[in-house]
Amino acid sequence: MADHLASIYGTEKDKVNCSFYFKIGACRHGDRCSRKHVKPTFSPTVLMPNLYRNPARASESTRVSRHEVQDDFDAFYEDLFTEIALKYGEIEEMNVCDNDSDHLAGNVYVLFHKESDAERAVEHLNQRYYRGQPIHAELSPVSDFREAYCRLYEMGECTHGGFCNFMHFIHPSSSLRRSLFDSQDAYRRRLRRERRAHREKDYSRQRRDRSPHSDVDSRDAGTPRSDA
Ligand SMILES: [Zn+2]
Ligand SMILES: [Zn+2]
Repeated sequence: MADHLASIYGTEKDKVNCSFYFKIGACRHGDRCSRKHVKPTFSPTVLMPNLYRNPARASESTRVSRHEVQDDFDAFYEDLFTEIALKYGEIEEMNVCDNDSDHLAGNVYVLFHKESDAERAVEHLNQRYYRGQPIHAELSPVSDFREAYCRLYEMGECTHGGFCNFMHFIHPSSSLRRSLFDSQDAYRRRLRRERRAHREKDYSRQRRDRSPHSDVDSRDAGTPRSDA
């Protein structure tokens, strides 16, 4: 019984919990959904809904080329990635949706290496602004994007367009992506090295303070020299 319940939790067969919220972190019915959206208390993933505004969608009057959209998105991705990786912790994945529907458009999902970093990020990000708009951040149940993104869209074959219920990712240029993750790795390695060096210094200071020689030294220092 318990096994059966666990196996249907968050799937389409689950009549209580919303499978879309569980898999995608967002559902088109929002708060009016007839099934439950169970917000996680712990999760390595942070969702910032509607944070990226695709300039091609924002202005109907002026035409924005694909090239301009890519430049705009790369700048957005680099900005956000750098700030989050420096302030809150190691990022495993950062995915942005380019769907047209309100509940997915511009959603940013950041999967952290540690749950505690995600928790801290939610606290801080909710007090921040991006391009003049207050940021909303929440923990998201999504931790496996393979269940959430649209495979057909990645192959250029999705027939649902911008209103598809699965995530349509907008990708940063591959060279930018690589350099961001590489520099994050280098930064983390350096942090670890510095922490280790710091710990070793502390440890050798403690050993010096506790060593029997230090007692002898201090006694010696307090003893008046006979030839004084
Ligand atoms: Zn729902
Ligand atoms: Zn699709």
